[in-house]
Amino acid sequence: MKIALIAHDRKKDDMVRLAQTFIAFLQTSELMATGTTGGRLRRELGLDVECLLSGPLGGDLQIGARLAVGEVDVVIFLRDPMTPQPHEPDINALVRACDVHNVPCATNQAGASLLLRQLTSQTG
Ligand code: PGA
Repeated sequence: MKIALIAHDRKKDDMVRLAQTFIAFLQTSELMATGTTGGRLRRELGLDVECLLSGPLGGDLQIGARLAVGEVDVVIFLRDPMTPQPHEPDINALVRACDVHNVPCATNQAGASLLLRQLTSQTG
């Protein structure tokens, strides 16, 4: 399972907690993340995450490009709806790519927990 992980700055603590909760499953998955998110997951949880560019520098677009060619199975994207983002067009492009290619995309913690719980139970 190839999973992309992205968290806006005020959601990064939530992402680390979420990943900690599902760490056993995530350790068996192929993980990629935007730069800062991935760095925290590597440092704080020891997860083997491929770190792409930081979101504002094009990381969301990198994930979208991979997704478009079938290289991403699931997107966990903890967005901050209360803070304007300089790369809003990139964020929209990634979410649109998920819809175009019918790739599951959770954009908040509750959805991400449901998705990861389901995937965890599927893989036993
Ligand atoms: P970051 O990017 O993980 O490099 O902070 C996330 C984003 O802002 O899209």
